[in-house]
Amino acid sequence: MFASLLTAGLERFAEVSMAVLDQSRPAENRSGSGRLEDDARSAVAGHTPAGPGDGAPVLLIGGLGTTAPFLRPLTRWLGQRGYAVTPVTVGAGLDCAEQTVDELAGVLEDVADRSRRRVRLVGHSRGGQFARVLARRRPDLTGALVTVGTPFDLYALRWPTFLTAAAITLAGTLGIGGLARVTCLAGGCCRRFRADLRAPVPDGVPFTSVYSREDRVVPYEACRACATHDSAAHRTRVRNVEVPGSHVGLLVGPHARSAVVDGLIAAHDDGPGGRPGADVTALPAPA
Ligand SMILES: [Zn+2]
Repeated sequence: MFASLLTAGLERFAEVSMAVLDQSRPAENRSGSGRLEDDARSAVAGHTPAGPGDGAPVLLIGGLGTTAPFLRPLTRWLGQRGYAVTPVTVGAGLDCAEQTVDELAGVLEDVADRSRRRVRLVGHSRGGQFARVLARRRPDLTGALVTVGTPFDLYALRWPTFLTAAAITLAGTLGIGGLARVTCLAGGCCRRFRADLRAPVPDGVPFTSVYSREDRVVPYEACRACATHDSAAHRTRVRNVEVPGSHVGLLVGPHARSAVVDGLIAAHDDGPGGRPGADVTALPAPA
């Protein structure tokens, strides 16, 4: 009950805030969501618009407090560039990480089966943590990993973010369903998840971390990937891309979107690939 009320509130907040932030959205679509959902559905159904995506499957994973409206602008934008995007917001990102990843693994297998291609994983905030663990567990199904505003050091969060996470896990521990518990944050429940999050990204999965110094939710230092630590055999392409924008703004900002596509272009469908990459701290203005 509490979790569903919280999700409903977040849904309404997302509808309003994304409508304001996504200024690239066509004017006729700003008042309603039907067309955007149609765009996402047609991409998932296999309709392939012209673009670098060439119909490649993308699993777009939302983070803490993310409801469907948060992901619509990026879903639409990637769809217009030829990617077949499946947006997912399991439990609004509030639930136990291990359970969430289990559920996402089923979605990943389904998308890979249907497309008969490796799936590109894109995750925003906590969704990037889910994506990274998925890539770790199913490198055979993962074509690329792109995280956006995702911290890899759970204890390097800003205090308000950490306190929010602690309040959610306390409510979950007190028995409110649909929320992570204290044992997810620091105990045995999600121990395997935390270990996989710290482990190197498997060799052959190109990895791009997009972040912003203007992010007031997640400090950018916690988002930076390390080429020597985060690549299993030090041969995987690992890139840090710094862009302007707020934490939620990273889902709609033109520089962030371009960085996401750049990470997706590095993907491959079969066999090992990629190479260590350089940091990118100043992107040219996107076309
Ligand atoms: Zn857990």
